[in-house]
Amino acid sequence: VQQAVSAIDDREPAKPKPQAGQVRHAHRQPAALVLTHRRLIAAAAIPVTVAAAALIAFGRSDQFLNASSSGAVLASLVVVVAAVCGWAALDAIERRRRSEEKLQLRDEMLNNVIDHAPQGVAVIQPDLTITNANPRLAAMLCSPAETLVGTRLDSFLPLDYLRLVLASIASADSEPTYSYESDSQARRADGSTFWMHWSCTPIRTRDESIDYYLATFEDVTSKREAEETAVANLAQLEKLNRLKSEFVAMVSHEFRTALVGIQGFSELIKDQDMEAREVKQLATEIYNDAIRLSRMITEMLDFDRLEAGKVRLDLKSLDINELAREAVERARVMSRKSAITAQLADGLPDVLGDADRLLQVMTNLLSNAVKYSPTGAEIGVTTRLLGSAVEVTIWDHGRGIPPEFIKRLFGKYERYEDNHAGKIIGTGLGLAISRQIVEMHGGRIMVDSVIGRGSEFRFTIPVAVQSVGQAANG
Ligand code: ADP
Repeated sequence: VQQAVSAIDDREPAKPKPQAGQVRHAHRQPAALVLTHRRLIAAAAIPVTVAAAALIAFGRSDQFLNASSSGAVLASLVVVVAAVCGWAALDAIERRRRSEEKLQLRDEMLNNVIDHAPQGVAVIQPDLTITNANPRLAAMLCSPAETLVGTRLDSFLPLDYLRLVLASIASADSEPTYSYESDSQARRADGSTFWMHWSCTPIRTRDESIDYYLATFEDVTSKREAEETAVANLAQLEKLNRLKSEFVAMVSHEFRTALVGIQGFSELIKDQDMEAREVKQLATEIYNDAIRLSRMITEMLDFDRLEAGKVRLDLKSLDINELAREAVERARVMSRKSAITAQLADGLPDVLGDADRLLQVMTNLLSNAVKYSPTGAEIGVTTRLLGSAVEVTIWDHGRGIPPEFIKRLFGKYERYEDNHAGKIIGTGLGLAISRQIVEMHGGRIMVDSVIGRGSEFRFTIPVAVQSVGQAANG
């Protein structure tokens, strides 16, 4: 009986195609569900047939039993056989029902997993039409699942790229478990783009042709951005490393040049009889070399301390014009050939600043103006009130700065390399230090420059609060 029921059950129904709507896990429809009535007929027909056969057999053997007793035996036999067969059939049906229930539960569970999966899942036909999509994919593409179903995958991913993917899948025919995976830029329904990691697995029919594709999708934009930032940081570190190596090479060279000068000139003074005028001239050279060395060492040490946050500002109310005058005086002493002028606004309020550090910034900007201008060129310093800050400008008619270098100008170790660079001594740290100092004061430093015409460096320092009060009262 069980064999008969199983034989009927094993007749396989048609394989279901994925249905439009959400992705559904669809187990093969159990035969028992479809053919229950056939089984019942079988269950009833078999005992009846057996009983009928027995009846015929016994009906012919009345030489062993008389008619009435043979009738009773036959009737009992029929009842027993019918009961056994009926029980067996019902038991088979019951077991089948339980396994159907289990399968149904499993289907529901799988459907839940797909619906709540953290990844997008879709069924895609070989012509790229999406026939199923889970809610995660709909959210990822900013398109409701109902709209998504029926659209083509190339509305979200580039068609040329998809063609390559399909070609790659087709070429992997011999590998039945082949699954394509890659990252691609995708377009949402609202037109915005994002990075998507997706995998595409062909589901094949029995004859190995592709029935449909099962694809999973993941938004990896933030992961990629983090990777890109890490790569950019690495590139920045590599660049700094390179600049530092160049810096060390350049500083060593400058140190040696200055030391050779000091050594040579002092040897001349020591070994040769000279007039006082000549000695004075050599002594000036020695002094200039020593100053260069000292400036380079100061800048190097200073920048490290500033960067490490080890420098504390000694903030006081200051007259910035006074500092500007002092810086101009120093620059005139250092470079007698330049024509340095000062146009300082009257009645400026005090700023809140560290006198030594602000003097360092002005001296540095002035020494650059001298360094990068032809001998005797005009250089100027101006001051003015700008909102709640005082602005100091140092301008020159020097060689100017190329626009592409301006954005790197205030970075550390940055020097503009051209034919002159070899002749002009510097560490590439002066402007980086100046920016640190100005920003520690709460100000800003900027530059305007035209190549061949000159440069104008400006920085602001906030006015001291009491000065603001005085200005308001006055
Ligand atoms: P350095 O010690 O090399 O002068 P800085 O940080 O002071 O370092 O300046 C960085 C670079 O900016 C210089 O190497 C130079 O190329 C350019 N620069 C600075 N000031 C001027 C200026 N006034 N005119 C032209 N170029 C300048």
